[in-house]
Amino acid sequence: MTSRTASCQCGQLRIELRGEPRAVGVCHCLACQRRTGSVFAALAGFAPPYTVTGTATEYVRTGDQGAQFRFRFCPVCGSTVFHTEEGFEQDGVSVAVGAFGDRRPTRCTTAGAMRGCACRRA
Ligand SMILES: [Zn+2]
Ligand SMILES: [Zn+2]
Repeated sequence: MTSRTASCQCGQLRIELRGEPRAVGVCHCLACQRRTGSVFAALAGFAPPYTVTGTATEYVRTGDQGAQFRFRFCPVCGSTVFHTEEGFEQDGVSVAVGAFGDRRPTRCTTAGAMRGCACRRA
């Protein structure tokens, strides 16, 4: 079975998933924009089991409909990596698509006026 690993920027926090994602999507709610610092949060949902290594700091946010989500991010580099819904941990985990090394673009894919992106220049 395929396995995929998502990790934070510094590499200490990792989550290994098995199989294909059940769903992939983007969310542009204000909370996700603030959470990620981006205009969209790209998420991939996976069924258990999954394996987490490293240390995560957690933050629980209550959504507009009352659902609570537990976000895990790296206390060293600050990358947001994955989250679960409180009470529904067995249903699956949502993982930041950008945290998958095997999906990392080899060059910045922003276009047109956004071409000045400096993230790959270092
Ligand atoms: Zn990190
Ligand atoms: Zn959202």
